[in-house]
Order: sequence, then structure tokens, then C-alpha cells
Amino acid sequence: MKCNIICKFADEKAEQMNAVVTPEKALRFDRMLSAASRAVLSAHIHADGDAVGSCSALLHYLRESRGIDAHVVLPDRDAGGTSFLIPEEDRPYYHFHLTDAADAEAVIARSDLVILLDCNSFSRTEGLEAALRGSAAPKVLIDHHLNPETESFDLIFSTEAISSASEMLFQVLCAMPDVAGDASRLPAHSAVALMTGMTTDTNNFANSVFPGTFEMASRLLAAGVDRDAILSQLYNSYRENRLRVMGFLLGKMTLTPEGAAYMILTKRNMNAFGISEGETEGFVNIPLSIREVRLSVFLKQDAGYFRVSTRSKKGTSAQQFAARYFNGGGHENAAGGRLYFSDSITSIKDVVAYLENALNEFLS
Ligand code: 5GP
Ligand code: MN
Repeated sequence: MKCNIICKFADEKAEQMNAVVTPEKALRFDRMLSAASRAVLSAHIHADGDAVGSCSALLHYLRESRGIDAHVVLPDRDAGGTSFLIPEEDRPYYHFHLTDAADAEAVIARSDLVILLDCNSFSRTEGLEAALRGSAAPKVLIDHHLNPETESFDLIFSTEAISSASEMLFQVLCAMPDVAGDASRLPAHSAVALMTGMTTDTNNFANSVFPGTFEMASRLLAAGVDRDAILSQLYNSYRENRLRVMGFLLGKMTLTPEGAAYMILTKRNMNAFGISEGETEGFVNIPLSIREVRLSVFLKQDAGYFRVSTRSKKGTSAQQFAARYFNGGGHENAAGGRLYFSDSITSIKDVVAYLENALNEFLS
């Protein structure tokens, strides 16, 4: 009898993976780097561990190994829970658009190479979109989301058959002549940042894990990465407030008869608990631990809209749910979008009604 577990990764998946970083594409990337002197790296809004991890890993490779004056420009105000990847001496190389728009746009304008990571479209860089699109520099995409905006890039490394943009970048860097498949030749900071991105996007190796994911982790560990130190920064360094608000939200969590769970965090409660951006990371995963729950939704109030995070078990598409009802997207089992206040949605009550109707329609 065929074993489904062992046979999960068919040969075609492996082929798909090999096709992404071909020797020809690696050579083109290598030549682009050799020709560049000032590179700008960017990622999606609300940068998470994979976005900051992949940018930070590439920043160090470009600076230390290739002598390129590289900078990271992000749409946000700061790097949230992944700020530990930005040591004091790296601060001059990071530019946050919500903090200083003119500075961020000036960095893009003077760059002769644009690399977008962990993001399938310039539209997901929010305030940076016009400046990035408007750049005359060659553009490279290193990503793992559905539907990459292929027409906007000169070179694309992207597949969904991979854990994270960090894993995609690891493959690309290993194909560079100076690294030549030897992870110990990566700058030490790059190795740590890649491990961080892969760890957060897989929810600490619980989801989106492919054979290459463990292989990469193994090679990074062998190269000297201290995984315990990364885990301590990621999962044992929260403020008490985070757990208090988590308890509050779980207490109020709603389960629907169709197998959905949802939690809503209003601005008022965020303020009451003294919670800041990024501190609710991971909450949306928790309800999936209930046997009956196949779709979990977390709504967080922002300026004029609710940010929507959704996660699903196999067989239910979080991506389709986010796309259909919240104008969003992401991955099959981890996606997000937005719900704007409008003429028909003016109160939290209306938000709940819209969400309940969407869940009922989608899951019935
Ligand atoms: P999270 O729930 O962690 O914010 O996001 C989960 C996944 O969905 C990530 O891959 C993220 O890039 C994607 N995502 C989150 N919000 C949006 C959105 O508004 N639009 C799209 N297209 N993707 C999103
Ligand atoms: Mn990612």
C-alpha cells in the first residue's frame, strides 16, 4: 500500500524547486550584483520575521561579501518583534517610510538595483509602491507567495513549494560563486537572519515545512547558528501585556457551528492593554489547536479598517477566504486582508455581522 505520509513530496515538487534557481538565473543574479553599487531591499508592510530576516540576511551578504552599499527600506514604522536582527551599527542602513518618508524615498531614488523580498507585488509595500515602481533600476523578486507580479521584475526567484522567502534566498545565495553551496561562507549575521525568517514563517517548523527546509536548517546549524538564542529572542522575550491580552481574547473567542473561530481586538482594548504593533503576532494560530476548528480569523482595528489575519487547516483555504471577503491574499493556509469601515459597516456590530456571514457562506 502506498504511504501518503512518506509520499507527500512527489518528484514534480522537487523538479519545481530545482527549476527556480537554475544555473542560468543564478549567473544573471551574480552579474546584476557585480554591476550594482547601491542596492535597495524592501518587503511587505507589517514586516514579519521572514520579511526582516530575508532583508537583513541579504543586506549583510551584499555589504560584507559583495562590497555593495545596500540599504533596507520598509513601509512600516519599525521592525517590531524582529528588531533584534538590527544591531546598533546597522541602523544607518534601515529606513522606515512611516517614520521618514523623504529619507526612504531618497534611498530608493539613488539605488541602481531594487530587490523585493517576501512580497509578491509592489502594491503590498503600501507607501513605497510609487517610488519602487518608478525606479529605473533593474528589479529582482525573491519570494514564496502565490501570484507574483511577474511583469514588474527583470529576474524572479519564487515558488510556493518552499517554507519562506528566507529559504528561497538561502538557495539563491548558495548558488553564488563565492558561497558555492557552503553555508559557512555566508556572513554570520546572514545565517542567523535566514534561520530566523524560516523559523517564524513555519511557526517554528510546524507549517509549510518541505524537505529543503530541514536541510537548510541543518546546514545553518552546522555553520554555527545558535538556534537557542534565536528561539529565546522570538518566543521567550515578550512583555507581560501580550499574555494578558491573549488571555482576554481567548476568553472572548467565538466558535461558529461551521468550524470557524474568531477573535476581534479593538483599538480601545489595544489601548487598555497597552499593546503595540506586532505584539499580537501568532494569536491567530491558537484556535486551530481546537479539534473542530478548521479556519481561524483574527481582526485587529487599525486606522479606518480592521486588519484581518486568517489561518486554516489542510482542506480549507485561508487564502481564498481572505481574497473573497477581505480583498487580501497570502498562502493557502495563512493569509490576510482588510475590512474597511464603509456606509454599511460603521460599528463593531456590523463588523461581526459581516464576518459571521462570510464564515457561514464560505464554510457551509
Ligand atoms: P499575517 O496574518 O501574518 O499578517 O499574514 C499572513 C500571510 O498573508 C502573509 O504571507 C502575508 O504576506 C499575507 N497577507 C497579510 N495581509 C495581506 C493583505 O492585505 N493582502 C495580501 N495580498 N496578503 C496579505
Ligand atoms: Mn514569508
